[in-house]
Amino acid sequence: MKERWKTRHPHHSTQDGIHQMERKGQTSLFRLRNDQNRLKAHLYKTYNIGHTDLCSCGEAAETLEHKETARIKECLNSRFGAS
Ligand SMILES: [Zn+2]
Repeated sequence: MKERWKTRHPHHSTQDGIHQMERKGQTSLFRLRNDQNRLKAHLYKTYNIGHTDLCSCGEAAETLEHKETARIKECLNSRFGAS
């Protein structure tokens, strides 16, 4: 079984940092990597849950990329002032 899994997943890396994490962290990262999350864009498009896929800021769909970009902007603003 284990060998068959390895042949079916040739890009699997035992060096991936995910193997150093606890189960809860591994699960969260796996879900994020596979777009299985609780962000509005996924819930709305996949399950038709909610009224919109827009983020609460109203600027874009609530995707992981949008959240990361927003967090980076927020971090930069807090360090260097709003631009
Ligand atoms: Zn937003």
